[in-house]
Amino acid sequence: MESTLRRTWSEINLDVLKNNYEIIKKKIGDNVKFLGVVKADAYGHGSINVAKTLEEAGADYLAVSSIDEAMELRLNDIRMPILILGHTPKEQVSRLIEYNITQAVTCKAKAVEYSEEAVRIGKTLKIHIKVDTGMSRLGYLCEGNFFDTGVKGICEALNMQGLYAEGIFTHFAVADEEGEEDLEYTMHQYKLFTDVCREVERISGRRFEIKHCANTGAVARFPETYLDMVRPGLLLYGYGPYAKQMGLKPVMTLKTTVSTIKIYPEGTHISYGGIYVTDKTTRVGVLPYGYADGFLRSLSNKCSLMTADGPARVCGKICMDMCMIDITDMMNVEVGSEIEIFGEKNSIDELSAIAGTIPYELTCAVSKRVPRKYIKDGKIIEQELMLRM
Ligand SMILES: *Cc1c(COP(=O)(O)O)cnc(C)c1O
Repeated sequence: MESTLRRTWSEINLDVLKNNYEIIKKKIGDNVKFLGVVKADAYGHGSINVAKTLEEAGADYLAVSSIDEAMELRLNDIRMPILILGHTPKEQVSRLIEYNITQAVTCKAKAVEYSEEAVRIGKTLKIHIKVDTGMSRLGYLCEGNFFDTGVKGICEALNMQGLYAEGIFTHFAVADEEGEEDLEYTMHQYKLFTDVCREVERISGRRFEIKHCANTGAVARFPETYLDMVRPGLLLYGYGPYAKQMGLKPVMTLKTTVSTIKIYPEGTHISYGGIYVTDKTTRVGVLPYGYADGFLRSLSNKCSLMTADGPARVCGKICMDMCMIDITDMMNVEVGSEIEIFGEKNSIDELSAIAGTIPYELTCAVSKRVPRKYIKDGKIIEQELMLRM
């Protein structure tokens, strides 16, 4: 369904995505597989079109956080391997197998459940073992005194019927932090992970096909951690300092238009709470973009959006459906003019820093009433309205 409004929309440039993929692929080399992280609807970019682009470009694997996200891809003809990073209830094991979806196994209790279910239906579930090396979230705990029990637990899972452990992985907690201690922490996590892999392979006498750990920070900074496969998300979408350093471009541009222009005298209170008072005769543009579209209200009065005449300050509180900008002296900005909320001209990195958050949160926050335009080979190939009509 196409949007009939020219209100606020995102442009998802699949050519940029493909180019980002190719730059990263060149960096990691031919011997390292590429897993594209497409959880959370591909960080708000639309997982189906992102997955199709990656599949065509030659990526090896995808990762999502739940079986619903995996099924969305399978039911839309994505054939490549998909890894579920999060938990799947054991009742869903037959569906995982039927749709050839790989499941992360994070502890003994899960391994037992999945094994029992797989045996019950007489089939084999493909799994990747998750090791907790310091993220302190999911995975077999292997730190310090837990090394032997962790290794033992993983070896047990390898011997369970109905499970085939294709891979093993861990997740870095501070690979994108610049401090000396952060560097040490990541290197410690990496060493622990490779120690666990080596010990499990020694005891079990078998080798994992795919060992992986490198997220965005590690892909950009630590080639020694690539192992068999890398697992970037943010980098692929072209955000953050490493994307910039590597010449990657933002895949999403979020745009809105000026719906109304007003001229207010000095001393006018603008928007809820009246926190912004004009200090001169002020030309104000009203934009149909508010916190229900994903504009964080904490950015009220703090940031600028990009017009054809340069950055325009957001004035006063951001409302649910609208916000206001100061366009005094920006005479090229008229009713209907396009405004870039974030993209190549208005950096999402700066916007998220002002909001005290990270780019991930801003792209994930774009809400379902914001339609997407997908661009491929320089042309709009699809307009996607997420509302149910
Ligand atoms: C989200 C996630 C990634 C990707 O992280 P980025 O920082 O976006 O590269 C990789 N691995 C796991 C386990 C994740 O949950």
